[in-house]
Amino acid sequence: MIFHATEISGFIALFLYASFFEWVLHRFLMHQLVWSYPFKSHALVHHGIFRSGPTYFLSQGEDLKLGKIRFAWWNAPLILGLHIPLLLWIQRLLHMNIFFGGMAALGLYYFFYEYLHFCMHVPKERWIEKTAWFSWLDSHHHMHHKRHFNNLNVVLPLADLVFGTLIPARDRLAVPERPGKALTLARALPQARP
Ligand SMILES: [Zn+2]
Ligand SMILES: [Zn+2]
Repeated sequence: MIFHATEISGFIALFLYASFFEWVLHRFLMHQLVWSYPFKSHALVHHGIFRSGPTYFLSQGEDLKLGKIRFAWWNAPLILGLHIPLLLWIQRLLHMNIFFGGMAALGLYYFFYEYLHFCMHVPKERWIEKTAWFSWLDSHHHMHHKRHFNNLNVVLPLADLVFGTLIPARDRLAVPERPGKALTLARALPQARP
């Protein structure tokens, strides 16, 4: 498969843009009562269940709360779909083939948001959780659960840096203190019994 330079430029530009889109969406729709659905499901429900400290993690027997971490399924086609006319318009304006690279960047950013955010609240000693990059992002998000109007990016904190909402990420809970680890062990135990 051959990737053209314009598609790669489109990918990079839209990945960076996604950081700002995420920030605006998080700040103004998910933490401010403009539209009741995102405000209720995020600011009230997600932040109401997952707070800072040990309640940042999903505990044993709380499987019903799994759905309070991920976005509803229809959010992805809605968010990505809204960008289709915008990208086609920019592509026409610039006379550059950026559409597929740009859409790939938005799709990947969305996937990263969902996956990383899930791993943050439901730790299971995945290889990714042991990387320095994830550790930093996890602490960054933990601080957001402490101070709701700071650290609004989950994937790429570029917009937090530009808009001055970045606060030091230093409060990552140590692995042994994590209920997620206990959850993993508790689930592994019944299988180990004869
Ligand atoms: Zn969260
Ligand atoms: Zn939030």
